[in-house]
Amino acid sequence: ATPTSIMVGTGRAAELGVLFRKGDALQKLDEAKVVAFDKTGTLTEGRPRLTRIDTANGHERDATLALIAAVESQSEHPIARSIEQAARDRGLTLPQARQVKAITGFGLSANVDGHDVLIGAERLMRREGIDTTPLATALARIAADGQTPVFAAIDGRLAALLAVADPVKPTSRAVIDSLHASGLKVAMITGDTQATAQAIAAELGIDHVEAETLPDGKVAAIDTLRARFGSVAFVGDGINDAPALAAADTGIAVGSGTDVAIEAADIVLISGDLSGVVNALHLSRATMRNIR
Ligand code: ADP
Ligand code: MG
Repeated sequence: ATPTSIMVGTGRAAELGVLFRKGDALQKLDEAKVVAFDKTGTLTEGRPRLTRIDTANGHERDATLALIAAVESQSEHPIARSIEQAARDRGLTLPQARQVKAITGFGLSANVDGHDVLIGAERLMRREGIDTTPLATALARIAADGQTPVFAAIDGRLAALLAVADPVKPTSRAVIDSLHASGLKVAMITGDTQATAQAIAAELGIDHVEAETLPDGKVAAIDTLRARFGSVAFVGDGINDAPALAAADTGIAVGSGTDVAIEAADIVLISGDLSGVVNALHLSRATMRNIR
């Protein structure tokens, strides 16, 4: 590898908004066989919006939304922001939520007006033995639309199912098509529900999905992809993506993401535009071709 051609490649990349943070990143990316993307905030806008509420077991809609929003007002999760916003838009008064505890990768538990409240993914309900069958039809519809289902239970019984939509970025599909045209496989890694992830993967033409990964499971997902396809480039934006960015053969951080992700990455897409992945790949290939 001649230093001159690498410098030229790195300089050209900077003009395209791609920052190569580590010296060997240009060489490493050329070896990638699969590009894996985080879903939320990377392939999608990362600004979810509440689209629908179904209730069960006689629970009233607005009162249930107010109660759920009261708990979510104490969570940092983007899903929590969308639910709190929807309740405020409806002018609902939020009760006081106490003992709010995050259940990492699952959701939250709390106490509101003396009632035990549980909010989160279907797997949280499963784990706590709560029967979700009364809302099975709504669940199937939500997941098939690529939206995220959020369940709520009150005192151990199912109370509501909320749907949260986080649209894919307008450029995601074209970026995935270009990667395929360059002979790469494309994967998605997400903590979201399996059925929701599959619907979004189908919409984007993604080959392989690792869904319902727990926060410490993204590294294992990278290892699975490496065993199956070979060298892995991983693209992510969040704090929870940092270990996977470090574990991937090439870690690519979306520049609009968190500092922790950027620190862990080999390559940074300055503008946050995913087409930088394609630009970086082409530059890496052109540079390595010149060198060989
Ligand atoms: P992701 O980055 O994919 O959202 P997380 O580990 O943060 O991964 O969350 C995994 C899942 O747990 C979410 O998709 C959601 O279903 C559920 N969850 C986590 N936090 C909350 C919350 N505050 N409110 C509702 N659901 C939550
Ligand atoms: Mg993300």
